[in-house]
Amino acid sequence: MDRSDNNTLLIRLIGAAVCTAALIALFIFSVNNRSKDTAFSRNIFAMDTIMELAVYGVDADTATIALDEAESLINELDHELSAHDKESSIYKLNEAGEGILSGYARECFMLAYSYSADEELPFNMLILPLMEIWGFGDDSNEFIKDRVIPVPTEDEIEAALAYEDIDDIELSDEEGDSLYVRFKKEGMAVDLGGIAKGYASSLVMDLFREHGIKSALINLGGNVVTLGSKTDGTPFRVGIRDPEGGYFDVVCVSDMAVVTSGGYERYVTGEDGKVYHHIIDPLTGRPAESGLISATAVCTDPTLADVLSTSLFIMGREGAEKYASQHIGELEILLLCDDGESLHL
Ligand code: ADP
Ligand code: MG
Repeated sequence: MDRSDNNTLLIRLIGAAVCTAALIALFIFSVNNRSKDTAFSRNIFAMDTIMELAVYGVDADTATIALDEAESLINELDHELSAHDKESSIYKLNEAGEGILSGYARECFMLAYSYSADEELPFNMLILPLMEIWGFGDDSNEFIKDRVIPVPTEDEIEAALAYEDIDDIELSDEEGDSLYVRFKKEGMAVDLGGIAKGYASSLVMDLFREHGIKSALINLGGNVVTLGSKTDGTPFRVGIRDPEGGYFDVVCVSDMAVVTSGGYERYVTGEDGKVYHHIIDPLTGRPAESGLISATAVCTDPTLADVLSTSLFIMGREGAEKYASQHIGELEILLLCDDGESLHL
């Protein structure tokens, strides 16, 4: 292990310690949701966040095998979907401006591509150049809060905005399951950070189903997904966090994803003393200022829920209300507004 490995390990360990409070919050879910059956759970640190996986109503062997496989799968996805891991095909694509994607990277890329092309959503996978100028150009975790960045100039923002046209991505199928991707402009780069945890949670649920598990609850850093109901047949209770403490609402769900995005988890401080968070409005090229503390999407598809939580946060209250009225029966939305009001649409 060289020094940089040691440093990385140290940062991760301290990062995990810093997150103890968050862990306690996560445990509230499992305590509330525990029925008479034994719960088997696992906490892991991946994708720069703490994750809790819990399965219910199965024997210890089945649970252990399923949790081991889920942990390996998440670690694999953490590397493959990362824009910062030098071995990942996404990193190589960003560096070279062209590349071949296959397997999970291809599948997640294509999901992100179709949501980015959806004009209803401010979701844009080509956000990386903007993330970089706002100080989020690497994957370091909680310590990012201590980072002080020079506030990007209008010219820098304009330049990065020129890289986010989804039509500037050229795609063609290659042999097997491979996809050739080319960026028409040098400097374009993709970031799957707004969708990766949702995609990962959907694959974990598929894996649990393959093992015959009928009841599970996972929380991948604010991406809560439930499989079935609690073993006594009642729905899971998922609390929606108030960053000031506790929960501002609770939803009762079965077979549902409950995903929250907020500006309070990941942010840096500008040299002007202002706090800048990590969810960028692709229209302005700046951290979204939509009057929301957080947006939560509740729907059956975990990947869509992840995309929607990021999008609704950017859209703000009015945009979210409009979206809800155009998608009745497809999702529930919970908003925490910066005036303290909370809404359940
Ligand atoms: P978190 O990852 O903290 O749970 P989100 O799911 O809302 O939060 O995703 C935020 C991440 O999504 C950012 O860190 C960045 O990688 C990416 N991102 C930021 N703005 C956008 C955007 N407009 N469209 C797509 N992805 C975005
Ligand atoms: Mg998201």
